[in-house]
Amino acid sequence: MKKHNFSAGPCILPQQVFKEASSSLLNFNNLDLSLIEISHRSADFVAVMDEAISLVKETLNVPSEYSVLFLQGGASMEFLMVAYNLMKTNGKAAYLDTGAWSSKAIKEAKLFGDTQVVGSSKIKNYSYIPKGYSIPTDANYFHCTSNNTIFGTQMKSFPSTEVNVVCDMSSDIFSRKINVSDFDLIYAGAQKNLGPAGTTLVIVKDEILGHTGREIPTMLDYRTHISKESMFNTPPVFPIYVSMLTLRWLKENGGIEWIEKRNNQKADLLYNFIDSSSIFEGSAAFEDRSTMNATFLLTDNSLESEFNKMCLEGGINGLKGHRSVGGYRASMYNAMPLESVQVLVDIMKELERKG
Ligand SMILES: *Cc1c(COP(=O)(O)O)cnc(C)c1O
Repeated sequence: MKKHNFSAGPCILPQQVFKEASSSLLNFNNLDLSLIEISHRSADFVAVMDEAISLVKETLNVPSEYSVLFLQGGASMEFLMVAYNLMKTNGKAAYLDTGAWSSKAIKEAKLFGDTQVVGSSKIKNYSYIPKGYSIPTDANYFHCTSNNTIFGTQMKSFPSTEVNVVCDMSSDIFSRKINVSDFDLIYAGAQKNLGPAGTTLVIVKDEILGHTGREIPTMLDYRTHISKESMFNTPPVFPIYVSMLTLRWLKENGGIEWIEKRNNQKADLLYNFIDSSSIFEGSAAFEDRSTMNATFLLTDNSLESEFNKMCLEGGINGLKGHRSVGGYRASMYNAMPLESVQVLVDIMKELERKG
């Protein structure tokens, strides 16, 4: 039987997508060829790329002055590409430090110029989102992480500022309504809500590019990929195809409005139980809790081995918390059905009953 997969990433994708993706490996579009053995310049693959891009635009209502790109190198490559493409020589950037991924982005930015951390929750092990920070108006951009996958916190609002806003949305893109025009550049590694590892979605407002005064290597320059519609070199054809299938699945079911409601139901189900329980407690600040990654602890460590055993028997996969937080982390990405969260909550209840 298929497991209930709470893995943080790579992670669950819709079952229907796995089926369609696997048949494309044997016979794509009735060509009697595999998707991964045809030219990326063939009409059949170009149609995949076009549909993937247009589904991103449709799903998120992307305004026309933005480009949608499918790149490689993961979100981690964007940490440096963002700075390379947006920080002026002798320029300045502002970063919000909300977790391990933010700090990795900050480390890369420091290679390019004055990188100011305008807010950080590091002293409290990133258990909340800093608020009330101010962004210097002479910064070339402000960078934030919408959802902190490891620590289970999520930004519920974004600053309104004249400065360009860049956001790492790797672990909550397509999970809730966003206003793309509140941002100037959004990036996300595919392997949480979109597809398999191997491609990175970038949504960028074209006019913010080309103002740094520095030379940028061809492959690291967003303008290269915009002008070649993500086909400058061979794109990761399979991850893009699977991402396209996932976006089709999302659209068929009712798009962002549908998924946001379902994600809230799943998060409510789990958090409500945690809040009522005497043996579990949440590890992130109440108002900043993530709908995607719920982090929690057992208040009594002696129950740990029994809980782990019950999870194993109940087909629960990937619940172990990240080593920097400990405890448990239930990642409830878009593809996870409410039923799987119910199975987990039932096990937690049963543990509490047995005490
Ligand atoms: C997973 C994740 C990353 C890292 O993505 P890679 O594609 O492995 O580089 C970066 N930021 C966030 C918020 C993530 O969840």
